[in-house]
Amino acid sequence: MQEHVDVERLIDLARALIAVGTPNPPGNEAAVAAVLRGALAPWKPSWTEVEPAPGRLSLVARLPDGGDRGARPTLIVNGHTDVVPAVPERWSSDPFRPSVVDGRLYGRGSADMKGGLAAAICALATLKAAGHEPACDIVFQFVADEERGGALGTRVLLESGLIQGDACLVPEPTSLAVCVAERGLLQGEILIKGQPAHGSRPREGVSAVEIGAQIALALHAADFGGPDHPLLGQPTANVGTFQGGSAFNVVAEQARLGFDRRLLPGISLDEAVDGLRQRIDSLGLGAGQYDIVVHDYGEGSEMSADHPFATLVRQCVTGVTGRPTPTIGMSFTTDARFVRNQGGIPAVVCGPGDIAQAHGIDEWAAVSQLVEATAAYADLYRSFGAEPAQPST
Ligand SMILES: [Zn+2]
Repeated sequence: MQEHVDVERLIDLARALIAVGTPNPPGNEAAVAAVLRGALAPWKPSWTEVEPAPGRLSLVARLPDGGDRGARPTLIVNGHTDVVPAVPERWSSDPFRPSVVDGRLYGRGSADMKGGLAAAICALATLKAAGHEPACDIVFQFVADEERGGALGTRVLLESGLIQGDACLVPEPTSLAVCVAERGLLQGEILIKGQPAHGSRPREGVSAVEIGAQIALALHAADFGGPDHPLLGQPTANVGTFQGGSAFNVVAEQARLGFDRRLLPGISLDEAVDGLRQRIDSLGLGAGQYDIVVHDYGEGSEMSADHPFATLVRQCVTGVTGRPTPTIGMSFTTDARFVRNQGGIPAVVCGPGDIAQAHGIDEWAAVSQLVEATAAYADLYRSFGAEPAQPST
């Protein structure tokens, strides 16, 4: 399949997507719509637009348009069109003027995840060049706002009833490993109340800084117990910020800690907050000395590593690379959680580019891996829904 990839077209499309800068915030994903519409135009999909806030556009493209749609299984390809911001002065070249150097495509989004989007689109032409047709209906979801939690992207599609299908591919960067599980997150602040006193008599007051320090020690990198998850390991907690007090010579009346807890699948928001409270309360602090304010919560998610769809994706990737395809979990969240948890649809994250490059300075993706991804996706389009599933090599 790999020999049918039009590498020039693939890289041109990836470059065109990267060149339309969509750093989030502010996002402005609508700016990239014309490139996506142009790239899929030969396939004549039907388009649905969802724009919950100005410029925050998600696009849904259904192939084939009309007629026989629905008679075959539906494969969703869900990928985000926003990127994290870049600081151009820290890059070796302009992050939004992509370039290919020594077999690497450089630019913001090359790995996360405009390279993956380009591969997923070019897989259609690759399959056609190989003389095959997709065995499934394909629904591309080009979504906004993934980098800031997906509230204006995949979540809106979900609430609009637009996430329906039999399986979902998310071409986020995994170096083409098959990811079937991801940790969730709980981020927020702990606000600590003390009792001010003269700094020369620290025991006459209650120091919010002292309490904050105890809480930080109790939470940061602590072992919260429970068994290891086979793919995700242990949950974690990072205390990332700590502010408090007003002057050297005043016992601190207030302090605030910013925390980032990463959760295993199956832990609800209430359970996650309760877990923090139990840990803090075990310190024996006085009543009413702290509050937890939640800023963000995203639940973990997982599907069976042995699910037939995960097996099929592994087969398609291995058929192209000739190497065993590892099955992994991710320590962070992607939009796959909405599809798995609320959509009830098996979702595999598998894409070109190394997660170590994502969000980094001088982000790049190997051209060879973009090509491999394109060929593997083409084989997936050919195999998903075909009976029996026998990807070509
Ligand atoms: Zn991403």
